[in-house]
Amino acid sequence: MNAAEPGGGSCRDVLDAVSAFLDGEMREDDCARMREHFQDCGHCLTEVDAYREIKALVARSCGCDPVPDEVRARVVSRLRSVTVQWQIEVREI
Ligand SMILES: [Zn+2]
Repeated sequence: MNAAEPGGGSCRDVLDAVSAFLDGEMREDDCARMREHFQDCGHCLTEVDAYREIKALVARSCGCDPVPDEVRARVVSRLRSVTVQWQIEVREI
């Protein structure tokens, strides 16, 4: 394991915890560590942004205003491409 670990945490740990982070289910010191990592790591920042977008869509679709299929499809495909790109680049380190 000699992948770069910006902010002291590994990307895998950070991405595993992204959903807890966005749900506010994380302790404040862990949140601070996540934010520190995002400042140094563009991969995880892009990924967390994509997750946040999905969550916003899901939250909106639970209301009375359904999300158009094309918007949902666009976000999902963006998340997939970000994830795939991230995996490729991590493998190449
Ligand atoms: Zn990272």
